[in-house]
Amino acid sequence: MVESTAFEKRQARKGLGSSNLPLSAVIGEDGKYKLKFMSQFQLTTELLKISSSQTWDEAKLEWNLIDLEKVSEKESEVCLCGKDPILEICIIQNKINNNIARVGNSCVKKFINKADKIFRSISQVKKNIDKSLNAETIDFAFEKKWINEWEKNFYLNIFRKRNISDKQKEYKTSIAKKILNSIKI
Ligand SMILES: [Zn+2]
Repeated sequence: MVESTAFEKRQARKGLGSSNLPLSAVIGEDGKYKLKFMSQFQLTTELLKISSSQTWDEAKLEWNLIDLEKVSEKESEVCLCGKDPILEICIIQNKINNNIARVGNSCVKKFINKADKIFRSISQVKKNIDKSLNAETIDFAFEKKWINEWEKNFYLNIFRKRNISDKQKEYKTSIAKKILNSIKI
């Protein structure tokens, strides 16, 4: 058994960029670490197969977040990395060849970090409608045409302000409700 160096382990823990590490890095004494590395390796391998670029560093830039879904345990899916079950699903599309992949949020956040921000923001506002959605969520809602440009600009203009009028608060809440009703998470 080949011992991996501390440096290699650190690199492996950093995740997705590590698919070109020497094989020795895969073999950790710690089974959990090994599994984590393997699943990240599997994710990059699978996504590279359906990307245009040959290297992960380039290929990861080809992918755009196009939708998000939260499913029940009954409807759970398997991630490209092999993780089963995944409940927070990100649908990503390749800008160059239009391929689509369904990947777990915990994998996607390593290369598209807005997905996780949207998941967290939506769950916060679902619990308390007076909280503000973050800019990532507002942007995403605009891209999906759930809100129009006026609503997007209005929200981004006032969402960090402490003192807003009742009328503004009413608009703000109605925009948030529109988004909560449209998003599948
Ligand atoms: Zn995964």
